[in-house]
Amino acid sequence: MFDYISSFEHAISALKHEQRYRVFVDLERRAGQFPHAIWNGPDGRRDVVVWCSNDYLGMGQHPKVIEAMCRAARSMGAGAGGTRNISGTNRALVQLEAEIADLHCKQAALVFTSGYVSNQTGIATLARLLPDCLILSDALNHNSMIEGVRAAGCAKEIWRHNDVEHLEQLLSRAAPGRPKLIVFESVYSMDGDVAPIKQICDLADRYEAMTYLDEVHAVGMYGPRGAGIAERDGIMDRIDIVEGTLAKAFGTLGGYIAGRSAVIDAVRSHAPGFIFTTALPPAVAAAATASIAHLKASHCERVAQRMSVAATKSALRKAGLPVMPTETHIVPVMVGDPELCRQASDLLLDQCGIYIQPINYPTVPKGTERLRITPTPAHDARLVEQLADSMVWVWRQLGLPLTKRHRPLD
Ligand code: PMP
Repeated sequence: MFDYISSFEHAISALKHEQRYRVFVDLERRAGQFPHAIWNGPDGRRDVVVWCSNDYLGMGQHPKVIEAMCRAARSMGAGAGGTRNISGTNRALVQLEAEIADLHCKQAALVFTSGYVSNQTGIATLARLLPDCLILSDALNHNSMIEGVRAAGCAKEIWRHNDVEHLEQLLSRAAPGRPKLIVFESVYSMDGDVAPIKQICDLADRYEAMTYLDEVHAVGMYGPRGAGIAERDGIMDRIDIVEGTLAKAFGTLGGYIAGRSAVIDAVRSHAPGFIFTTALPPAVAAAATASIAHLKASHCERVAQRMSVAATKSALRKAGLPVMPTETHIVPVMVGDPELCRQASDLLLDQCGIYIQPINYPTVPKGTERLRITPTPAHDARLVEQLADSMVWVWRQLGLPLTKRHRPLD
């Protein structure tokens, strides 16, 4: 008889052997206390400071967002009750889609159960609806986009990360009348770098391609109304389809695409990942709408985040830690080894009460394992100082190199 279980055990041991086995930290977020949380560790419950959350602005704990969620749950109940097509569409979702379309100045928007699903089913559906489509995808695109490209089943070209010359070479080789979809991100989540969006749009115009931009790590945080990097750079109208998440800076759950009505309507009617799954609960939709509406009008979270990010980068650099230079809110500190990266994370958690998840392969290439730090408005000067001191202590414990030279700010 085939030994089913040993196949799975073998897969797990292989991961452990490669230092890639994931250990989840059991964390209890406490409303109103972010970035403090309770860690349910082997020695019981302990207070820790979370430095790696994608709740970038702390909106998941914002009283307005929590109140909107509770109010909607009390008035509409817990679940959506069906797929969007069969009884699952409700006022809260319709309002959320209108709010998103307005945020990105697009004709229409469509909400999915996650940003992952938006990319996976969105890209696949768009490409399938364009006859003989060629997808051009940035080499560092997120897994959800890669899966979308795969599922599309059409021809694809991968261009070197952020390399517009390479993109142009690939575009120029394609037949002029052939439909082309350029898929890329604005802020790349692990390196914290930003795409040359304007240049990519110039190429899209020249070669008559459609643009699909993932602003998952930018919405809420960049641009005067929090619509992302394209808004910040004044080029929102040059993006055909923008994709975003409600689960990071907006602090809730869900994903979306926004664009021209015909495009959104076609995806709505053809995307299996939209059609054949239960809609988001109305309470989640109401909370997301409250969060977007708040961040459209309020700048103080973005200003406070920028200050916290600058203070963190500066403190870590002054302490001699190998901070990768970035122009965004993502602060990667390079370790370059999976085992040392895990040990650094363990020591920070066990000994210093600081939680930063190690980032190992395949999330980042082998040899570039790192700690990815995301300062938020809730990380004050005292916490920043504690972080820098603790990391220096950990670096010394593990014999990791520290530079003593002060590097200039980004
Ligand atoms: N796009 C990018 C670039 C991401 O990093 C992620 C998740 N980290 C997603 C999409 C998926 O978003 P969500 O978490 O809402 O599923």
